[in-house]
Amino acid sequence: MTLPPDNEVSFKDSVNLSFDLARATLEIPDGMAQYIRNVNNVYQVRFPVKINGKIETFIGWRAVHSDHKLPAKGGIRFAPQVNQNEVEALAALMSYKCALVDVPFGGSKGGLLIDPRKYDRESMEKITRRFAFELIQKDYIGSGTNVPAPDMGTGQREMAWIASTYNSYRPGDINHLACVTGKPVSMGGIQGRVEATGRGVVFGLREFFRTPGDVEKAGLDGGLEGKKIIVQGLGNVGYYTAKILQEEDGAKIIGVLEYNGGLMDPNGLNVEEVYRYKVDNQGFEGYPGNGEFVPDSSVLLEEECDILIPAAMEAVINQENAGRIQAKIIAEAANGPVTFAAEAILQEKGVVSIPDVYLNAGGVTVSYFEWIKNLSHIRFGRMQKRYDEGKSEKLIQAIEGTGHKVPQALKEQICRGSEEIDLVRSGLDDTMRQAWQDIRERFWTNDSIHSYRIAAMSIAIEKIHNSYRTMGVYP
Ligand code: GLU
Repeated sequence: MTLPPDNEVSFKDSVNLSFDLARATLEIPDGMAQYIRNVNNVYQVRFPVKINGKIETFIGWRAVHSDHKLPAKGGIRFAPQVNQNEVEALAALMSYKCALVDVPFGGSKGGLLIDPRKYDRESMEKITRRFAFELIQKDYIGSGTNVPAPDMGTGQREMAWIASTYNSYRPGDINHLACVTGKPVSMGGIQGRVEATGRGVVFGLREFFRTPGDVEKAGLDGGLEGKKIIVQGLGNVGYYTAKILQEEDGAKIIGVLEYNGGLMDPNGLNVEEVYRYKVDNQGFEGYPGNGEFVPDSSVLLEEECDILIPAAMEAVINQENAGRIQAKIIAEAANGPVTFAAEAILQEKGVVSIPDVYLNAGGVTVSYFEWIKNLSHIRFGRMQKRYDEGKSEKLIQAIEGTGHKVPQALKEQICRGSEEIDLVRSGLDDTMRQAWQDIRERFWTNDSIHSYRIAAMSIAIEKIHNSYRTMGVYP
């Protein structure tokens, strides 16, 4: 992959420059705007862990960008290039994301500087538990204060270790499971959390394609069916996004990219097969199915397509390559994939960005549902499923009593009470639909707003400001 050029501003500056544009469209006192813009606190920790008889020192961060609502929420990233600037930028994005989609959390993010591929499972457990312990000690993890979740390099496994570590240091805390989200279902997790970010991306895209004005602005027409899509990063987010788009919406996934090569086929790739191969072989090289292997995957970002979905990391679309992007829409499944400078170039070319703060909010939305589930100590649907089924059966009986036969398939559909997964998906769909309507309204009715990103950020900043004001930070 090509790296962003040296003169590109940092990730945090990139987020803050967008903040400044959004803030300029709002009536907020300067001091308050500065307060909202900056990270409230950040904790850096170094800790030793004995691995194979040798002591190794690790460094990690947890930043809280805003705490206008508690707990502060956001993932923990395990990656070899994490740094404080990145963690702070990601924490800020969490604040804006949560505010935008009405998830009542502040924004936080954590990072551990590590290459998880270099350690076995046992070592990873030791390191994760130790990092969790350090964060618990300083109140950077807790069901009412700060609630981590998976991010790049972490998943259900790490969340289970964090929850278990928390439990051992806070015995008797009846709400201990709510200290982290993205846990395995067997440990208090929620159905649909693993796919949530990807499914949220799809719900967001569906809503975009339901509004002809937006589709037209991107120089496209029709719905998602048959649209040519390239996905950068076939990890958790990219995989579910691509799979759902292909299987449920009939979109054509013509390219997939990883850091060590990509696959391209203008007639479409089989996402499930390609993904299985990638997992087993750590990349696409040698894939026996259809598709051409492209060793320098970054060139695939610049291929002609309808929608480019960066689903891995920040700054992949930057000053250096933005001018060569041929996609009509950039659907930001990752956090910060388009730099501030790149966005200006894309806008000039008429490329439409559906911004990260909106499009990848599905993960934290379902985290919110998981947190509620943990606090209420009951699975969604448990109380009403059978009751609803009984009511629907009576309704069918009443209809059939009038002599009208209800077809069997329809009967089954109507009579099936909602399971947790149905409720989670419905709540996520509703969240994504509502937020997009808010963004497009702000965009189309405000002459000083020139992108969906600035529309989304201005809504988020306004909501955070209102929270602080109601709270009484200033009279
Ligand atoms: N890491 C995800 C994000 O960037 C999820 C955060 C969460 O669920 O708290 O949005």
